[in-house]
Amino acid sequence: MTLPSSEPAARAPAEARADGALSVADALHLIRAAVAPVTDTDALPLAAALDRVLAEDVASPIDVPPRPCAAMDGWAFRHADVATDPARALRQVGAAFAGHPFGGTLHAGQCVRVMTGAVVPAGADCVAMQEVVRVDDAGVHVPADLVPGQNVRRRGEDLARGEVCVAAGTLLRPAHLGLLASIGCADVHAHRRLRVAFFSTGDELVEPGAPLPDGAAYDANRYSLRGLLQRLGCELHDLGLVRDDPASLQAAMATAAAQADVVLTSGGVSVGEADYTRRVLAELGEVAFWKIAMRPGRPLAFGRVGGALFFGLPGNPVAVMVAFQQFVREAILRTAGVRNEVELPLLPLPAACTIRKKPGRTEYVRGVVARDDNGMVRVRPTAGQGAAMLRSMTQANCLIVLAHARGDVAAGEPVDVLLFEGMV
Ligand code: AMP
Ligand code: MG
Repeated sequence: MTLPSSEPAARAPAEARADGALSVADALHLIRAAVAPVTDTDALPLAAALDRVLAEDVASPIDVPPRPCAAMDGWAFRHADVATDPARALRQVGAAFAGHPFGGTLHAGQCVRVMTGAVVPAGADCVAMQEVVRVDDAGVHVPADLVPGQNVRRRGEDLARGEVCVAAGTLLRPAHLGLLASIGCADVHAHRRLRVAFFSTGDELVEPGAPLPDGAAYDANRYSLRGLLQRLGCELHDLGLVRDDPASLQAAMATAAAQADVVLTSGGVSVGEADYTRRVLAELGEVAFWKIAMRPGRPLAFGRVGGALFFGLPGNPVAVMVAFQQFVREAILRTAGVRNEVELPLLPLPAACTIRKKPGRTEYVRGVVARDDNGMVRVRPTAGQGAAMLRSMTQANCLIVLAHARGDVAAGEPVDVLLFEGMV
């Protein structure tokens, strides 16, 4: 793998070159090129497969539904019987309930009481819903305006036997589990869970629960990272706090690289600290130190240590989360074998107020999407946008993503919104 330093990349747009910063798009491009999926797989029961990544296509071994079945409670009959004689009274010869089919075949002039989900008996091709049927001493009267096939779910209508219903590379969500169960699939082959090692760097950091000495700060990043990684279904290797000295950093990095597919650190990559981190990393792998034209999250180290993919995230707690969501999330999903759903949709919504924005960098503004008094859905920034202000991350329900070239946003103008639900 060849990684550029923060020298201007050949394909970096002109406005990103002035200070040697990479655009977000270029950084993403370089990260995507460096990522390869893990190939080991596990066999697991379906019940344990939520958030795992399917390793092989699953084709349905059956038609779904396996037999034609009733979509409504009512009576199943032969459409031709009433097509020629709309006034004809049909004779009920039996009943079919879900799980209890009517064994016989329907002959001319006959009908069968059916409940939703019941197999439509052989010979019948139409179901009249009970609300439109009249039953009297003469028999069962169905309306004349039905068409053949009405209220009948055709055999194989959802899935034909042999059809791939969940493709390799799919991140298994609740609906996939239900679909796989519906075709009788009890076990799946999934990519093995990704091992992610992470630690925080900084002499000032102390563990929550310990006393806070003067000048110290509690380690927030390892806890937000832990949550983000858990949401992605990773196997966590928490290596704790690491002091700002080369021997400790080197030892932690070597341990991390030996146990994990991906190594994440926070802190120690900003200009003041990068030289020392750079020296240590140069001995262990190939890591580039980037300045990214974004806010927050400007410094980022990316590359490989040992066999692991490495992200050196900034120290500021909001920058960590934004850089994670913008770069690490996608890299982790792709390394875990995900081929679909990797990019999150950006929804355009009107800004509720003016937002200051400097062209030449992508800005991520913590925002709140809400309905105003007129019923209009709009997005407004939270108070307190500093990169260290983690509280506003908890008050936000989205990030407003303001594109690289964009300038100030006027109230009412559309902005791109990345909703948090399920992620942060
Ligand atoms: P650094 O990039 O290491 O200079 O860190 C930038 C800022 O983020 C400093 O104010 C650090 O104290 C703060 N910081 C770094 N790591 C953490 C952490 N794990 N939790 C909370 N704040 C941190
Ligand atoms: Mg530091």
